[in-house]
Amino acid sequence: MSVSQYSLILTAVDFSAQSENLIARALAMRDLCGARLCLLHVVEYLPMAYSGDLVLPEGFDLEQELLDVASRQMATLGERLGVPAGDCHVEIGNTGHTILRVAEELGADLILVGSHGRHGLAVLLGSTARSVLNGAHCDVLAVRVPED
Ligand code: AMP
Repeated sequence: MSVSQYSLILTAVDFSAQSENLIARALAMRDLCGARLCLLHVVEYLPMAYSGDLVLPEGFDLEQELLDVASRQMATLGERLGVPAGDCHVEIGNTGHTILRVAEELGADLILVGSHGRHGLAVLLGSTARSVLNGAHCDVLAVRVPED
């Protein structure tokens, strides 16, 4: 497949300052391919992780709060990049699995994901880029992003 044949590019964004490289590459690929660009952020909500030391007010829905914050960040990013709201996705779940699921659902033919190229523990545990590369049914472009 030639680069110009990519028609739907899914870019996984974590909203970090370091991912500007990834965003710049996504825009460049969109323009180069004349493709549709979709953005995805995944909220990894682990209720057990909060249960020990955090007392939440009664009726406070932490999951909804996290989704609301992420949706606002996504709306700002989508506006900045000229990506229509319908192509800006916020989902809840495991990051790697959710990126793969949404890529399948949208029929993405290219996934863009940032890669830190870290060593040590991150290699043992597997980074997001690693799990996406392992499970994807389409091409994956792992874009080098700077360390924190
Ligand atoms: P990581 O290896 O988890 O530090 O993340 C590397 C890349 O995975 C980021 O540059 C993003 O492309 C993607 N990523 C990480 N976390 C998320 C998230 N919560 N939602 C969407 N993409 C993410």
